[in-house]
Amino acid sequence: MSNAISGEKSVILVPQNLMEKKKEELKQFLTEIKELDFWKSYSEHKNFIIDPEKFSLEYWQSLPLSSKEDFIKMGLKERIRDAFKINTPDVIFNLILRATSGTIGSTNPVLFLNPVINSSNVFDKMKEDSVRVLTMQRSYMMGLRSALLNIIKCMRKKAAFETLIVNPGLGGISSALKEYSADMIVGLPQSFAKLAAEFYDRREIIKNVKKIKMNGDFLNKDHASLITDFFSGVKDLDMGIDYAMTEFGKVGTWCKYLAKRYHGNAYHPGRFFLAEIVDADPDGYGEIIVTKIIPRQLSLLRYCTGDIGKGIFETCECGAGVTLFLIGRKNFDYIKCAGALVVRKEIERAISIAAEDIEEWRGEVREHVRGREIVGELVLKLKFESGHGGYNEMVSIGDRISENLFLTPAETLKDLVDKKKFFPLKIELIKKFPDSPKKIMLRKII
Ligand SMILES: [Zn+2]
Repeated sequence: MSNAISGEKSVILVPQNLMEKKKEELKQFLTEIKELDFWKSYSEHKNFIIDPEKFSLEYWQSLPLSSKEDFIKMGLKERIRDAFKINTPDVIFNLILRATSGTIGSTNPVLFLNPVINSSNVFDKMKEDSVRVLTMQRSYMMGLRSALLNIIKCMRKKAAFETLIVNPGLGGISSALKEYSADMIVGLPQSFAKLAAEFYDRREIIKNVKKIKMNGDFLNKDHASLITDFFSGVKDLDMGIDYAMTEFGKVGTWCKYLAKRYHGNAYHPGRFFLAEIVDADPDGYGEIIVTKIIPRQLSLLRYCTGDIGKGIFETCECGAGVTLFLIGRKNFDYIKCAGALVVRKEIERAISIAAEDIEEWRGEVREHVRGREIVGELVLKLKFESGHGGYNEMVSIGDRISENLFLTPAETLKDLVDKKKFFPLKIELIKKFPDSPKKIMLRKII
């Protein structure tokens, strides 16, 4: 997945005043993981030796990058063996499997083991000892996972949290809300936005909800205001979204000051993570590489997230010295937008039908809130082969792409425009795309 070259100098997202301490911490980290079965197998596969005695920042930056494929090659066996070395009596209840094939589906599913960490427990802050949680989850696998997590957390807290998992894509949400009478709703921001748009005039349906917690994906400004408006009666409205990954857990932490300053997608790197940017372009954007330090037995070393971001060193009101901006995924193959799916391969197909003389393209996807509807927008930036393509041609090409580009199994962009679910396709002619090592073909603008 990653084209980043090992050994290339990365930007280490640690403020200068904490660097010495971090270096000690990383050296200790290498000393301990080198004894673990998984990392022994890993260094053998990657043909390098973990040598903490050589530790320096340059040495760290020369360590190979790891990818999802590496975990497929090495399998789970060593990792499970290591995990059982964690010295807690109820270790089996502290671990949970996570599976991911990656958002872009570029690999076979990979299983990771992750610890269940108390601090990430959304229920800890709730005083009641009985809470009814409604979880909106589109994937059954993830739904099952959240149910298991809740069971483990209940066992620990010795409290009763009932959990109902509903797939918001299947339309059962209205009866779930009516009959289950949830105290708390958990889900992706898109699911909340869909809920708010659908039930805008029937707010009594959420009258018992005391808390909402969003997780997972980006929250765009329009969605945020729609959700805030819809849930304005809810006292404990938790709009904070951490930067979390299936394979890792929480990589970046949301902060209320950052949210105010940047309106989302800005985080502080998590305490038990080291974030680096590799392969950065002149503006500082590159792939985010993360090391998970604790617990050692489930650690990850310089792992390629596939996410594109940038770090800046600034002192936040909360005291943190680094901010990590997330702008999207590298090699994004599809983007969910306004109930439809914008797929890179499908765009390529539609473009090739409409015009053979297009040399390069980029796509940008946005979601707007129009009244109470979520409306999608696709902008295509096209570069014609020299001598081809003019303004008139561009208009008719736009129409042809729109008629050919399927965004749902049965509807083209034109169909969705007619149904007012999408704005008409915008085409921009580009003379030359900037030279960049990372070609982000399709990106979501937030
Ligand atoms: Zn902060």
